[in-house]
Amino acid sequence: MRSWLLKKETRVKFKNDRARLEFGKAPFKLREICIDLDTASQKKFKIEMTCTRVKEPVANESGVHPAGRAADFRDEYMIDSEKTERLYQPEQVQDLVDYLNEKYPRTDGKSVAIHHAVEGGMDHFHVQIPYAWLLPHERKGE
Ligand SMILES: [Zn+2]
Repeated sequence: MRSWLLKKETRVKFKNDRARLEFGKAPFKLREICIDLDTASQKKFKIEMTCTRVKEPVANESGVHPAGRAADFRDEYMIDSEKTERLYQPEQVQDLVDYLNEKYPRTDGKSVAIHHAVEGGMDHFHVQIPYAWLLPHERKGE
């Protein structure tokens, strides 16, 4: 099980070393869902997902990233100093978000996957798991 997971993980791409290291230490369920997202993106649309952020904090966020229960994946990105492009068409974004939310339903009224931008930043996929999905050894009391 462990070696299978590590093998699959190598397919997720990372924006930087920080994201790669933090993803490697992220909760099992979060990694499983993110690998599922990347696999679905490649199978359906031939697009490899890039993880841009795991625990790195940004201004005015909920704190779920620093708590280690969320990961972001690239959609919009800068092509020069003022122009951006997107990796995904709007219907592809909707397909992937729906796919995860149907497969991993939460019972707390929140969604496991959304597509958004924070404070004028780039649009991206945001994957987030509830505290209840942490394994016992991953719970450190938030
Ligand atoms: Zn996020």
